Amino acid sequence: MKTYLALISAAVLGLAACSQEASKPAETATPAAKTSASSVETTASTAEPASVAVADTACSTVVESDDAMKFNVAEINISKACPQFSITLKHMGKMPKAAMGHNIVITKAEDVDAVVKESAAAGVDNEFVKADDSRVIAHSSLIGGGEETTFTVDTGKFAAGNQYEFFCSFPGHVAMMRGKVNLTE
Ligand code: ZN
Repeated sequence: MKTYLALISAAVLGLAACSQEASKPAETATPAAKTSASSVETTASTAEPASVAVADTACSTVVESDDAMKFNVAEINISKACPQFSITLKHMGKMPKAAMGHNIVITKAEDVDAVVKESAAAGVDNEFVKADDSRVIAHSSLIGGGEETTFTVDTGKFAAGNQYEFFCSFPGHVAMMRGKVNLTE
């Protein structure tokens, strides 16, 4: 009796082995399917036109400021290829304009000290920028916590060979809020 059962179970195992082998050829179809799928993806990504989005962001930038009297960047890169360059200033803090107001003023590096003094005298009603100051290449509005403002810079006003800087002209802020303007082609 025991021998008979052993034969049956051997036959069952044999059948199981056969059915496993039979299922193998089906698996070979999967790698082939994956290969064709990935070749389709490659074709799609090389055909993507990304140049439009890149050109758009190159003519604008965003600068953040806060209640700690800081800009989040030490330098602003401005492309001279853009006739008009747009800068958005955001105030991420909560303090009001009268206590912690910020703006961005752009002048030649050698003009910063004089412009800062005269801007303070212009007062908060003039957003700390002297009216019709020819030394000011461009400037934003003065904003308080939670606000943002955008201004455009006429890049034709930048002369070759000069160093330019940006700063906040709110009295006392220039010591902490000042950086370089880099002109790129
Ligand atoms: Zn400021």
